[in-house]
Amino acid sequence: MNSVRHRQQAQQQDADLLLRIGKQIHFSENEGKALVNQFKYLTKDNKVARQDKLDRSQFREVLQSTFKMTDDIIMDRLMRAFDTDADSCVNLSEWILGLSVFLRGTLEETIVFCFNVYDLNGDGFISKEEMFHLLKNSLVKQPTEEDPDEGIRELVDISIKKMDGDRDGRLSLQDFASAVREDSLLLEAFGQCLPAPEIKDRFLATLSTKL
Ligand code: CA
Ligand code: CA
Repeated sequence: MNSVRHRQQAQQQDADLLLRIGKQIHFSENEGKALVNQFKYLTKDNKVARQDKLDRSQFREVLQSTFKMTDDIIMDRLMRAFDTDADSCVNLSEWILGLSVFLRGTLEETIVFCFNVYDLNGDGFISKEEMFHLLKNSLVKQPTEEDPDEGIRELVDISIKKMDGDRDGRLSLQDFASAVREDSLLLEAFGQCLPAPEIKDRFLATLSTKL
């Protein structure tokens, strides 16, 4: 009896959650329900203390296996982007809100999302050091190059020339947004923050599959 009531309460909470965030997300009602079920499945073996939340390693596991993300620094920053209440876990509402931008974000939403991923120390600017760090980590090393850092430094200089609209030597959100609106390829200039289109499509297809 208790477990039935518990299950009903949990279902009601999930329905309330979807109702609450429904207007902010780019998912249909059925897709929202499918995301809830997937999340329950992902967290089904969690210990009581972590119930209904993905911890850092579970979150990374999904990014790697489902979304084929590989860059360590970016995966850490993605965790911060999803984990809006900063409790080092991703709960159901953070998961669905995050995926909404990650999978179906508008240009404006993805600009802010990628900017926050690249702004490693969260001070509101992408500095040259942050660009260097990100590019060094994401580029494949060329063993023939004598000084591989030299090429990355050149790339940082080119990026600054191209994107630093107000010429203060670092990228504000406004610099970044203007550059991306001119050339959408710059959205992921410093490393992959969003899943590849075919991977997105494959995942979104799982949300409309009737089980
Ligand atoms: Ca959280
Ligand atoms: Ca920064």
